[in-house]
Amino acid sequence: MKLTKKKPDKREYTFMIVPHRDDKIYSLRVPIKRLKLIAGSIATCLVVCAGLFTYQAYTVQQAASSQSELQELRANKDVQEQKLVVLAQKTTEIQKQISEIEALENEVKRALGNPETSSTSRSGVERTERSGGQGGPIAKNNVDSLQLQLNSLEAALKSKDASLKELKSQLEERNQKLARTPSIWPTEGDITSRFGWRQSPFGYGSDWHPGVDIANSIGTPIHATADGVVTNAGWYGGYGRYVEIDHGYGYVTAYGHHSAIVVAIGQQVKKGDVIAYVGNSGMSTGPHVHYEVRVNGREVNPMTFMQ
Ligand SMILES: [Zn+2]
Repeated sequence: MKLTKKKPDKREYTFMIVPHRDDKIYSLRVPIKRLKLIAGSIATCLVVCAGLFTYQAYTVQQAASSQSELQELRANKDVQEQKLVVLAQKTTEIQKQISEIEALENEVKRALGNPETSSTSRSGVERTERSGGQGGPIAKNNVDSLQLQLNSLEAALKSKDASLKELKSQLEERNQKLARTPSIWPTEGDITSRFGWRQSPFGYGSDWHPGVDIANSIGTPIHATADGVVTNAGWYGGYGRYVEIDHGYGYVTAYGHHSAIVVAIGQQVKKGDVIAYVGNSGMSTGPHVHYEVRVNGREVNPMTFMQ
């Protein structure tokens, strides 16, 4: 391959300035190399200027965007501050409500004979009289303080929840015991024989009377004097037609001399349910109900359980 050496470009251009009035013509002879150099420099300048212009425009736009973002953040901060103030007021309100619940809880405890618990809202929930709703910066420690208050409230509510459930359970137990404690008359009527030693109605000296006799006409309804389960229903020697109910808690009631029985062994009865009707069956001198109350197997005076 033959290498050909490139010839230097020797071309030249002449620029002429021809004035209209003066007679002198200005001419400038420029070789092509210099012309190329000048054109290259102008192109480089244009590129650099365009770059600088673009950068400037970008910076201005960025500044405007940051300004708008800042304004938005400021507006958002104001809204957040107002929300925090409302939240703080609500927190204080909830603290008051918990204190009221606690007062009620202690009243129930007193009624049940339980010791009052120390106030969780006073020890666990600190009252802070912050922010009257007047704006101002919400410092981080205020937000932290609010968070602490909310944590305390949460703990206080859990404690109240557990305590109230316990009280509810105690009340249910108490109500059940009340329902299972004999407390009413088994039937209306006149008491013709009381509990204890008495002159025998059959004329054999004195005898032990383990209940009370309430006289009324045959067919008068007889009621269970407490909730319980029927443990005996039928003929039972001198008691004639007889019903026995176990109420739990050591209480048993017994009813005798009926004309008819309307319950069966194993049947659950509620206080006030009709279990039989007044009669004169067994060893009886006239229509009445013989009523007994036993506590832990011992006969006691039924009058103390008849209100
Ligand atoms: Zn009797």
